[in-house]
Amino acid sequence: MFSSAVAAEEPITPPVQVEYTQLLIGGKYVDSASGKTFPTLDPRTGEVIAHVAEGDAEDINRAVSAARKAFDDGPWPRMTAYERSRILYRFADLVEKHNDELAALETWDNGKPYEQASLAEIPMFVRLMRYYAGWADKIHGLVVPADGPHHVQVLHEPIGVAGQIIPWNFPLLMYAWKVGPALACGNTVVLKTAEQTPLSALLVSKLFLEAGLPAGVLNVISGYGPTAGAALASHMDVDKLAFTGSTVTGQAVLNLASKSNLKPVTLELGGKSPFIICEDADVDQAVELAHFALFFNQGQCCCAGSRTFVHERIYDEFLEKAKARAMKRVVGDPFKKGVEQGPQIDLEQFNKIMGYIKSGVDSGATLELGGERIGTKGYYIQPTIFSNTKDSMPIATDEIFGPVQTVFKFKDLNEVIQRANASRYGLAAGVFTKNIDTANTLSRALRVGTVWVNCFDVFDAAIPFGGYKMSGVGREKGIQSLSNYLQVKAVVQHLRNPAWL
Ligand code: NAD
Repeated sequence: MFSSAVAAEEPITPPVQVEYTQLLIGGKYVDSASGKTFPTLDPRTGEVIAHVAEGDAEDINRAVSAARKAFDDGPWPRMTAYERSRILYRFADLVEKHNDELAALETWDNGKPYEQASLAEIPMFVRLMRYYAGWADKIHGLVVPADGPHHVQVLHEPIGVAGQIIPWNFPLLMYAWKVGPALACGNTVVLKTAEQTPLSALLVSKLFLEAGLPAGVLNVISGYGPTAGAALASHMDVDKLAFTGSTVTGQAVLNLASKSNLKPVTLELGGKSPFIICEDADVDQAVELAHFALFFNQGQCCCAGSRTFVHERIYDEFLEKAKARAMKRVVGDPFKKGVEQGPQIDLEQFNKIMGYIKSGVDSGATLELGGERIGTKGYYIQPTIFSNTKDSMPIATDEIFGPVQTVFKFKDLNEVIQRANASRYGLAAGVFTKNIDTANTLSRALRVGTVWVNCFDVFDAAIPFGGYKMSGVGREKGIQSLSNYLQVKAVVQHLRNPAWL
């Protein structure tokens, strides 16, 4: 049925070596305090790529102390903003130079197509760093009027030590979203990477040191969530926490943060985004965009357009064409040229996705396409499409985080607005229409943090991103991300001799 059973072939040897497997604490790569390591696996085969130092609470303590010292006594928050900005620019240049090596490591550890990593994600990382480098010397407070004889300055100061916890689906991009604004504002950082994908953050951080980042400003801990992650979220000496991951874990870290020292928390969580295709749509274009919206990155996107709503007038044509497009999707070794879809990240996610596919079939939805594993090694799944799905079925309500598209039929705008909004999530939505009034109505009515009109997954550095409802708290990227990492201080000074008296 599928032309792309290439997953059964011998895996291509990655064009990169693993050099950094230790934790980065205080400017040095070091073993974990316990001496323990954990394996990071190749999603193409399930085989071990490397053993990585396993950080736990003790290592989080060491990293937070290093970050605290770098903040309280070190040069980073004290140097001119221009000097900070130049280090960020130098780092971006180095990342650009090492594009292919970083992309290869990302593909090896994560399973995403090499072309996606090398042509889009690493260049976007560089773009983000330059964006934040540009902000570093433009962050300033203001003077506000007071009723009495007072001069009032509102200062924007760095918040201190930022704890950051990131997931595995875009390891380097999540690093850039978190570390970029924190450092541009003059903070120091302890970053806990995802246990599935520790490698690229360790390599890229070496480039940061080479660019002149002072020791202790950025500390990187590889390790598991319930040990290292929880220790960071509950640490009394961490001044701010930023988390990206699942909603359930987001609730847990928010709890830990509030029960410890009430550190402010930003959360980027899950989603179940509607992609609404209106009756005036060009069906071929809509099929292509809806396909991209769901299947990009193996379907492992928080904002994946996982509920494809199609107007009844074009529904049958859309479904046939969507199946034909998914049949042609090239699934295989992510290092191979032209491959659109690699393996899922690991066995746990693979089993979770297969479980949802089974639940869809068991609950009476129509499996239009796919639903099977590809090959016998690694975690490849056929592009899968369901129709005849009730809005209440788990495949319609839950985040599957895999290559499973669910197509729904709708009659009118009011109905689709109500159904699209009937979700505990509110991260993003797509709208496909030629009618500007329809686009405006939907853009305003949808209770989500991002609406893409006639496009999807546009992630420029200046565009804020975040969720309504249980998709998150706060915004990342754009000017909005800076306020996550700044304290506001009012300095009210009595004027003995007001100028105009
Ligand atoms: P996850 O919540 O299991 O893990 C995310 C991170 O949290 C990892 O680093 C993990 O080690 C850590 N963690 C796990 N348990 C922890 C605990 N008890 N205390 C502290 N840290 C803990 O999520 P995942 O499976 O790695 O990632 C997939 C999820 O992330 C999806 O739900 C997806 O929607 C979401 N996501 C959201 C965005 C966004 O911007 N909104 C971006 C990417 C991924």
